[in-house]
Amino acid sequence: MVRDQIDRIGVVGAGTMGSGIAQVAATGGYDVRMRDVEEEFVESGFESIRESLERLENRDDLEEDPETIRGRIEGTTDLEAFADCDLVVEAVLEDLDVKREVFADLERVCDDDVPLATNTSTLSITSIAADLEHPERVIGLHFMNPVPIMEGVEVVVGEKTSDEATDLAHRIAEDLEKTTWEADDKPGFVTNRILMPWINEGIRAFDEGVAAKGDIDRGMELGTNVPMGPLRLADHIGLDVCLHASETLHEELGDRYQPAYLLKRKVEAGDLGKKTGKGFYEYEDE
Ligand code: NAD
Repeated sequence: MVRDQIDRIGVVGAGTMGSGIAQVAATGGYDVRMRDVEEEFVESGFESIRESLERLENRDDLEEDPETIRGRIEGTTDLEAFADCDLVVEAVLEDLDVKREVFADLERVCDDDVPLATNTSTLSITSIAADLEHPERVIGLHFMNPVPIMEGVEVVVGEKTSDEATDLAHRIAEDLEKTTWEADDKPGFVTNRILMPWINEGIRAFDEGVAAKGDIDRGMELGTNVPMGPLRLADHIGLDVCLHASETLHEELGDRYQPAYLLKRKVEAGDLGKKTGKGFYEYEDE
């Protein structure tokens, strides 16, 4: 049994995805509690939200003023702040043990009928929920980056996830003006299972001299009608994030998911893409 009436949404983690999810939830009119482990991370989440709302306002993409939207979000480091939330979305780092701990805490703090969602990119919903008393309320709500811009949300159904939790996940995402699709709880779901080998193959093609990086990206953009080629997209996602996702898939699905050697080397060198100013390309003012 999961509750139907959702007024207040809790978001665990105020990083790239957590702050984006808090922002779209507040834009959708929900009261939001955004939690991180340190006050400075909560503050930097608010800073990302402020910048994102400013960009959207400049493009006339907001129906309300940024202050009103921002005013619906309460930042906290206190787990107990989730006690009166009607839905909680977890967006902490991609580590199974950390996520399990977060869900055990949420089960302790939240009422039994509160649906608990995870934004995991590659981890199993079933594993995250395995030790819980109510695994039927755990669902994957996989927002894409950047959350305020990307329209798609992947709803991932774990082995024990109830139909009610699944329906609610679709309903909430659609209420936030997203479009959903559903995936079974298999490694990488739909998106990363297909995206990661594509990115790794683009990197290998570059490393093996098939074409210059710009030609690889242009070839895929103009030749297959995708908005970003594999190298540019990898820089945008973060090369460390791509490597971590590829390693998880490699572990689960075998050799065809082996990360490209050059991806590992770039991550070791600290060239993580746009966020560090350098990945396959160089970025100014990032
Ligand atoms: P991030 O590193 O930017 O943010 C994670 C945040 O979680 C950090 O601020 C960290 O301090 C916080 N945190 C860690 N433990 C916590 C706890 N116990 N309670 C509260 N906060 C805690 O990571 P991200 O890129 O936002 O990724 C978050 C999740 O979203 C991951 O599961 C990732 O796989 C998934 N995801 C990421 C992307 C992407 O492109 N970045 C896309 C889709 C899904």
